[in-house]
Amino acid sequence: MPAEPAQITVTSPLLPDLEELHTLLQDIWQRKWLTNNGHYHRELEKALAEYLGVPYISVFTNGTLPLLTALQALNLRQGEVITTPFSFVATTHSLWWNGLTPVFADVDPVTGNLDPAAVEAAVTERTVAIMPVHVYGTPCDTAALQAIADRHGLKVIYDAAHAFGVQVNGKSVLTAGDMSTLSFHATKVYNTVEGGALVCQSAEMKEHIDHLRNFGFTGEVEVAEPGINSKMDEIRSAYGLLTLRKVDEAIAARQQVAQAYRATLADVPGIRCLQDIPGVRHNYSYFPIFIDAAKYGRTRDELFALLKEHGILARRYFYPVIPAFAAYRDTAPAKAARIPVARALADSVLCLPMHHALSQGDTARVLDVVCH
Ligand SMILES: *Cc1c(COP(=O)(O)O)cnc(C)c1O
Repeated sequence: MPAEPAQITVTSPLLPDLEELHTLLQDIWQRKWLTNNGHYHRELEKALAEYLGVPYISVFTNGTLPLLTALQALNLRQGEVITTPFSFVATTHSLWWNGLTPVFADVDPVTGNLDPAAVEAAVTERTVAIMPVHVYGTPCDTAALQAIADRHGLKVIYDAAHAFGVQVNGKSVLTAGDMSTLSFHATKVYNTVEGGALVCQSAEMKEHIDHLRNFGFTGEVEVAEPGINSKMDEIRSAYGLLTLRKVDEAIAARQQVAQAYRATLADVPGIRCLQDIPGVRHNYSYFPIFIDAAKYGRTRDELFALLKEHGILARRYFYPVIPAFAAYRDTAPAKAARIPVARALADSVLCLPMHHALSQGDTARVLDVVCH
């Protein structure tokens, strides 16, 4: 019987060198300091600020708590926040946890990012902020969104979970808006197993965020406000310093995969890929394809199942749209959502395997199935 070919997963974690990790763990064992702003925590914040080209960054224990904390730090606790329905569900959850009402605006049919015209149309006297997502790492139209925010006195918090290392004309996309959040979950371009970060624009704000991250403590015996515990520990900080050394290589490998996919899929009727945007340093965090079933001859779900039969795990990212989840379906904001473009993208998208460890043979196997 011929051996089954190995499964191809949609993502694969970027792992640090084990020996290097062992050396850092030995150092942590000697220091006997496991969490609360330790040596490796400080080193990681320094290294990330430098790598990402951002002035102030606070690391967190995951990528959801910085979203919650950004809203707290900006004192946003009531009103409406205009956000995207085409994202991972944590984006909307962060609003719910802060007592804010999500208002779902439609997205651009090409990028899947919030459409500034739809955002403008959704502004009411109750709007307090905009929470866009750089979905798949494609930068939002940050200038247009900022212009709307400035006109109406709104805050802008970017969920930049997909945009690690993304630059526009040499500048980090994380410097747009009031704040940006990152996720360092194992499935992302850069990971600390679980982890995340909040990028802000002033030393005072970073100090405020760092207090909120540690129960609101501002001194040994003083708590200034109700904070939360979302501190990153020393072990994952050390891990993160080591994966950071490998991330450029990983992004270069992802670019090779994207180029291989695009070159072949360009000739397949009914399949659309995202293209590189001039002036943008992409991170190739995902490889979504959008399927026009009539032209392609198969539905998205049929292709998803066919890939699975061949041991290839794709993901329907992002499907369904957030207001279609049971958690939100029956709420007024979900019922009010007029988002035909987001729904069409969610119904047609499939993310193909995309990670640094895919071989040419792997991409060829994926393309073989997609093209037949
Ligand atoms: C991964 C992700 C998050 C949540 O990050 P966690 O680290 O898993 O908490 C939030 N928003 C988006 C868009 C994501 O993809």
